[in-house]
Formats: sequence, C-alpha cells, structure tokens
Amino acid sequence: MRLSRAFLPTLKETPADAQIASHRLMLRAGMVRQTSAGIYAWLPLGWRVLQKVEQIVREEQDRAGAQEILMPTIQTADLWRQSGRYDAYGPEMLRLKDRHDREMLYGPTNEEMVTDIFRTYAKSYRDLPRNLYHIQWKFRDEVRPRFGVMRGREFLMKDAYSFDLDYAGAQRSYRQMFVAYLRTFARMGLKAIPMQADTGPIGGNLSHEFLILAETGESQVYLHRDLLDFDVLGQAPDYEGDLSPIVDFWTSRYAATDEKHDEAAWNAIPAERQVSARGIEIGHIFYFGTKYSASMGLQVQGPDGKPVAPEMGSYGIGVSRLVGAIIEANHDEAGIKWPEAVAPFRLAVLNLKQGDAATDALCDKLYAAFEADAVYDDRPERAGVKFADADLMGYPWQAIVGPRGAAAGKVELKRRATGEREELSLEDAIARIR
Ligand code: ATP
Ligand code: MG
Ligand code: MG
Ligand code: MG
Repeated sequence: MRLSRAFLPTLKETPADAQIASHRLMLRAGMVRQTSAGIYAWLPLGWRVLQKVEQIVREEQDRAGAQEILMPTIQTADLWRQSGRYDAYGPEMLRLKDRHDREMLYGPTNEEMVTDIFRTYAKSYRDLPRNLYHIQWKFRDEVRPRFGVMRGREFLMKDAYSFDLDYAGAQRSYRQMFVAYLRTFARMGLKAIPMQADTGPIGGNLSHEFLILAETGESQVYLHRDLLDFDVLGQAPDYEGDLSPIVDFWTSRYAATDEKHDEAAWNAIPAERQVSARGIEIGHIFYFGTKYSASMGLQVQGPDGKPVAPEMGSYGIGVSRLVGAIIEANHDEAGIKWPEAVAPFRLAVLNLKQGDAATDALCDKLYAAFEADAVYDDRPERAGVKFADADLMGYPWQAIVGPRGAAAGKVELKRRATGEREELSLEDAIARIR
C-alpha cells in the first residue's frame, strides 16, 4: 500500500471524549470512525486488523472441530418467545417491526436461532455431537456504550453452540472450547485467564469468562499468580483426546471475577501469590444443559430409541472488542505496538528523500519484497511526520531509508515493540523481516 494513494487517515488532535488509550489510539490512527453512539465504521487500517483477529478465531474454532455457518443479524420475536427470553431480555434488545407489523429484533446472541436450525435436521444420536459457530455482528443497546469498540452497541462476535447427547459429552465440548480459547488469545499475544463467572441472561450453571488484565478493565478479578506464567502454545492439544489435564491445571488455581469471588478460597492463597486486578472480558463460555433444547422442543432419538433433549453450551468471543483489548496490552506514548500476528501491515518502508535515485531504488526493492503486507511511505512529508505516523500506526517493522544509508546500500531497521535499531544490507533486512 503506497501511502501517497492510500486512505489511511490520522487525527492530529486527541479526541476529548476518548477516555482510554486504545480508544484514543484507534481514533488517532484512523482505524474506526464512530457513526452514532456505539456504532462504528471500520476504516482500512482497522478493518485489516479486525480481519486478522477474526481469522485466528476461525482457525482455532476449526481446529477444535467446530463448523462455521452464517446466521442472519435480524431474527423474529417468535423464536425468542419459544425460549421465554423475548420479554426477559429487556432494553438491551433492539426491537424492530417489519412492514407487516411483525416483531423482529437485531440479534444480541443466537441460542434460539441455532437451536431452531439444529432441530430441523438433527434426528438421531448419530447427529451428535456437533458444534456450529458463526462470526456475525450483534446489537446490544448498552446503557453506556464507551471505550470505543470495547463496549459498542453494534459489535462483532464469534459465537459457537455445542450439542451433545449427555452430560459427559457436553463437558467434553466445553473443554474443547476452553482449550481453543486459550490458544486463540495466546496467538494474538494476549495472556487471557479463564475465571469462574456468572452465567447472566444466557442461564446455566457452569461458565468461565476469559479476561486479560488491564488497568482500564471494567471487571474486578482475583487470581493466583501461577496462572500468569503458563505457556499455552507450548504443545498442540489433541482435541480427540482427553483435555482434562489442561483444563484441570487452569481450574485448580484460584481465578474468579468479583461476582463469583470467594473470600475463604482467596485467603487460602499465600499473599505473595495473590493478584487482585482489573480485567477486560474478551470471551465467555457456558454450559447450560437442556435449557434451550427442552424449551424449544429439540429432541433426537437416543441409542435406546427414546427421545432425548441434547445438552448444549454456547461460547462467545468479542472479536471487535479484541482489537481494543490488544491495543490496551500493546502501546506506548507514541502509539500502537502491534503483535506480528494481528498487525495491519508487518512493515513500513519510510523513504526519507523522495527523488534521490539510490533511496527510491532501495525503497522500491524492499516494498516489492513484502508488498501485500507492507506500507510504503512515499508521501512528500518531512521525516519527522513519517516517523511519528509509523509509530502511531504500530507496524512491527520500520525500514528507514535515507540518502546516506542508501549510497552505502544500507537500510535502518527498527523494531516497533522494543525500539531496537540495526543497520543492514537490503538482503539481510529482507531476511530479518521474513
Ligand atoms: P460484558 O460483561 O462486557 O457486558 P457480556 O458478559 O454481556 O459482556 P457475553 O454475552 O458473554 O457478553 O458475550 C460474549 C462476548 O462478547 C464477551 O465476552 C465480550 O467479549 C463481547 N461483548 C459483549 N458485549 C459487547 C459489547 N457491547 N461490545 C463489544 N463486545 C462485547
Ligand atoms: Mg453485557
Ligand atoms: Mg460479562
Ligand atoms: Mg459474558
């Protein structure tokens, strides 16, 4: 992407109403534009990050055995009357009417719809277990939309739904998602901790929230320090095998949000291992048994010929919230420091002297080597402006090329995360970034 032709706008002033760093930086870096309260347009830089986050979520869901579908955003009220949630859900639900005066709604979640789809086709215990997910926009009319995309009204969520024959199967599905979540967040460079949590309006009796620690988090959390030192990606899990050891490790150390906080269990932890902090909820998994299958008449024929209501769970990830959460965890005064896996572009080539033949030639070669994953700052701007913008946008690598270095065939390579700089030949620079 040549910056001279790209739509990658920045804001000079820090927007006054943005209270936290990620919100400020997303606005300043031109990632999103609020179009009305809690509703955002994603501009090219933000959209690329959102897609990278989404793709990691997708890959880990697929790996864990879930299958992707796409359900619509608009649902009929009838489905929600069947589960009894139409009235119970309250003012967070955006309710609409079509031209025939039929009651519709913009989905805040999809338990009812997926149960309806599944009951149409699943007839026998052989149709179980299954896990279906989609990545789709949700709408919740939050009382206080704030912190940018972290608490939007329209937001992108991955939601998966598992169907099992019995309790043991449902626990297995739950563990698969538990482990998939650990991996998903770790791949984005986040330290997400599963914590005992309330089930809220989804209902049910077993649930974990995944949170990252951040001063600006909206939840108060309590956890055992051991959980912060565990290497999640060290070995690939066998999703067909027994995942209990992984889940047991995490659940054997204390970690709870304040709704579930248990003073006695907390006090049993040595004081120097206690961590009490603020956290951001980025994912949430629930087991709720037959709550929806029973109320909505989903039944399959069991192995003994008798009808059974499948045991279900649901599993959400805040895909758009993650973009903000990743920035909360990776920024400094100058801007964003993207982890490589979700960076909008991995490399920025900064040409400090347009029109100098050696400088232009070196920049062209570097840019050509990474074109799809690089921005080329070929704007007629001062060096200081280019440095500041590259730091703000947070590309993991900056290749700085000026006439003095170019004459000697050298590139200055800067690592955004650490500030380290090196002078390298073109070939070495390319090899380093690859
Ligand atoms: P919160 O406690 O932050 O209101 P929630 O518990 O209501 O979230 P869930 O129903 O568990 O949310 O939804 C699954 C995930 O969707 C959450 O873990 C979060 O990452 C994301 N999410 C929920 N509400 C929002 C929102 N208003 N804006 C962005 N992401 C959201
Ligand atoms: Mg909520
Ligand atoms: Mg919550
Ligand atoms: Mg939740």
